Amino acid sequence: MKIYEKSLSLRTTKRIDFIEITDEVNNVVKSSGISNGICYVFVPHTTAAVTINENADRSVVKDIISVLNKVIPEDGDYTHSEGNSDAHVKSSLVGCSIQIFVSDGKLHLGTWQGIYFCEFDGPRNRNVWVKVIGI
Ligand code: ZN
Repeated sequence: MKIYEKSLSLRTTKRIDFIEITDEVNNVVKSSGISNGICYVFVPHTTAAVTINENADRSVVKDIISVLNKVIPEDGDYTHSEGNSDAHVKSSLVGCSIQIFVSDGKLHLGTWQGIYFCEFDGPRNRNVWVKVIGI
């Protein structure tokens, strides 16, 4: 079993934003030399997340952010003293990891799927841990 891992760094520019990282993750898979296996993408932050969704029409991401803000407003009846409770809740709901099959040396995503880093309390310097496991 071959394992390859790499940490990606990114700088977010808005408080809330979805940044597509599909190409960066695919580059890690290519660098791994692994042709078949599983790729894990993990976000080691409590106010950020990672998700897979449509990357053809940017309005989908706008709608997801809009609904998250409606359900979990920035100003709510929160107790956390740092003042960013909405970001913590959004992070937990969206989730901090995803898994994608690796086939023929690349991510086996659906036609319209892209991987998004989800910033909920930016701007900040962020990391994304990618691990590719060959089977
Ligand atoms: Zn906090």
